[in-house]
Amino acid sequence: MSLLVTGSIGIDSVITPHGEATEVLGGSAVYFGFAAAAFTPVRLVGVVGEDFPDQFRDLLASDRIDLAGLETRSGSKTFRWTGKYSPDMNDRETLDVQLNVLGEAGPKVPAAFADSKVVFLANTHPALQRELLAQLDGGCLSVCDTMDLWIETEADELRRTLRAVDGVIINDGEARQLTGKGNLVEAGEAVLDMGPRFVVIKKGEHGAMLLTADSVTTIPAFPTKNVKDPTGAGDSFAGGMLGYLDQCGQSNTASLRRALVRGTVAASFTIEDFSLNRIREVAADDAEARVEQFTQMLRID
Ligand code: AMP
Repeated sequence: MSLLVTGSIGIDSVITPHGEATEVLGGSAVYFGFAAAAFTPVRLVGVVGEDFPDQFRDLLASDRIDLAGLETRSGSKTFRWTGKYSPDMNDRETLDVQLNVLGEAGPKVPAAFADSKVVFLANTHPALQRELLAQLDGGCLSVCDTMDLWIETEADELRRTLRAVDGVIINDGEARQLTGKGNLVEAGEAVLDMGPRFVVIKKGEHGAMLLTADSVTTIPAFPTKNVKDPTGAGDSFAGGMLGYLDQCGQSNTASLRRALVRGTVAASFTIEDFSLNRIREVAADDAEARVEQFTQMLRID
């Protein structure tokens, strides 16, 4: 199968109540990629600057992640993000963001990736998301993320992107902001009215909800005391979901519900350590063992 992700590849600095990580590998596409790689091979498309450290390139190199779509742009600088979490880690503040190469022309999809069957457009300008989609053969399952900035400043572009994709994975605050609805079921239905055939609303430690035209599914987060750094949880969730959908080759409601479980499990690994330290080590067996543990927990006679 063939799963393509495009999004940020960056250098993060993060402060949580459990410590700090300075200038570590991050970015939405990177978290997504490592989470998805536990389920299926991944094609990564993104741009970094000439300052991108060699040791990060080595970390990215994995036989499960194809880096043919990773462009190193000379004369440009890599995306940087610095964030600080609240004491309960449910909120975070962006202390600094330097778009650098992300503010320039988008990446090109290599011809060999045009036949990708599942595509995740991680958070970026919605016009750029459609530009990426236009470089693919079509007929793929396309899913996007977005953020408060684009909901506020690029509402029309975002509406166009939502009409072009099959699914959207966003968090609760974004769903409410996008639709003006306080009730999350109503918000989800309003997102479906904008075009996609499924929407997933992530609720952090309160789990996630999937809506299709004729179903609503809600699941809790994987219960854990071991939370060191929530960075990348959302992107890892999307990676686990779409990695599974690519592996199983279907996206009907039953598959989407099973994918919801894989997304939850992938996010639960990522938050156990800083940066990619934990999720990078997760093999298919580890993921399946936790999926089994979680589904046992959800089964109530
Ligand atoms: P998440 O915690 O799932 O929202 O993902 C966090 C990752 O998103 C971090 O590794 C950041 O490098 C990256 N990130 C933060 N802000 C942006 C942005 N405006 N555009 C693209 N990526 C971002």
